[in-house]
Amino acid sequence: MSTQEQTSKLRVVIAGGGVAGLEAALALGELAPGLTATTVLAPNSEFVDRPMTVREPFAYPQANRYALEPIVRDAGAELVADELAWVDPVKRVVHTRSDGELEYDVLVLALGARITPRYKHAITIDDRQLDETLHGLIQDVEEGYVKSVAFVAPGRMAWPLPLYELALMTSTRAFDMDVEVDITIVTPEDSPLAIFGSLASSAIGDRLTKAKIKTITSAYAEIPRTGEIVINPGDRYLKVDRVVALPELYGPSVRGVPLSEHGFLRVDSHCKLVDMEGIYAAGDATEFAIKHGGVSSQQADAAAESIAALAGAPLTPQQFHPVIRGMLLTGEEPLYLTARITGGQGFSSEITDEPTWSPPSKVASKYLAPYLAAQAPATR
Ligand SMILES: Cc1cc2nc3c(=O)[nH]c(=O)nc-3n(C[C@H](O)[C@H](O)[C@H](O)COP(=O)(O)OP(=O)(O)OC[C@H]3O[C@@H](n4cnc5c(N)ncnc54)[C@H](O)[C@@H]3O)c2cc1C
Repeated sequence: MSTQEQTSKLRVVIAGGGVAGLEAALALGELAPGLTATTVLAPNSEFVDRPMTVREPFAYPQANRYALEPIVRDAGAELVADELAWVDPVKRVVHTRSDGELEYDVLVLALGARITPRYKHAITIDDRQLDETLHGLIQDVEEGYVKSVAFVAPGRMAWPLPLYELALMTSTRAFDMDVEVDITIVTPEDSPLAIFGSLASSAIGDRLTKAKIKTITSAYAEIPRTGEIVINPGDRYLKVDRVVALPELYGPSVRGVPLSEHGFLRVDSHCKLVDMEGIYAAGDATEFAIKHGGVSSQQADAAAESIAALAGAPLTPQQFHPVIRGMLLTGEEPLYLTARITGGQGFSSEITDEPTWSPPSKVASKYLAPYLAAQAPATR
């Protein structure tokens, strides 16, 4: 490529090699072919299908992993294996952990969230080591050593699905092994999986009842000692053999850009950082309350459309209007949930036995899901 060709292109740096970063890169490759010089900056050499890690403690195969470099290359971008350290928004330069500098015209921050355990006396769900942390518990349930398990969501909800999936899969496994186990879900939600709207939530409630899982909603838990849960309001008390909890998520606290509460990034309806030119953000790193891969992809698409228009592509960028699609693993056939939301609550709600999106992946996305469906994973 000649220097003149290079300089006439919009220089885009995408920081992050997860759902949002890769969706943004693939979307840009599709929407503005030849109009951008895109760099993906990420420390990970593989993309992991994070939602499928919930199956690992139940001795299913490992979640799929895909080499990152070919995905980035197929998006028409270049991979830099490093980490963003800080941003100089005036000079439009990203400084990397190993003292590199990347100049940009547009930056996309797709750095995900930081997983922080909320409870000292519980096993925290962390997809980087789910098999290690939960395999022993599932074995103890199977062998009848563990008679009661509570699955707890702290006050600030992380990802909505895995807590319910782990509870349902544990119940199915206990049933298959013909052992008795009391399972309780403790959640601050007003109803189970409330973000999917009342229709889906009530069907999930029925499913949990059928699986003999007790659900305590509108509940804020403290875990003062191993196996002891204090639930507020009401100062109720629960004693169980084991407690599994969702973590709390914190934003990436990027140095050089304005941050909102807990280090998250505040974006407008096109996913551009509020009060900051040339910087977009997408995914779990943003302030948007629902942390979900499908939502992350839609934010990445909104950002990519705006950036493609800036690069000269003939399109009118659409605003981010989230539609939440979730495949709920149950240990039996999965359920498919859809909600179109405004202001954080579902207003149209659907639950089906068959997928209503294609491909029927756990993370529903416009560019990444069809791309991955056509690839052989590096590891199954
Ligand atoms: C167990 C589990 C089950 C889930 N189930 C579902 C589900 O069924 N459906 C669904 O839609 N969602 C689900 N989710 C949520 C979904 O996985 C996340 O919402 C999604 O991964 C967020 O994508 P992201 O790109 O914003 O962040 P991430 O996937 O966290 O990716 C962040 C990327 O940024 C990189 N990075 C971090 N720091 C830096 C840095 N300083 N510089 C450069 N790069 C950096 C990381 O290496 C990573 O590549 C689940 C999550 C978990 C953990």
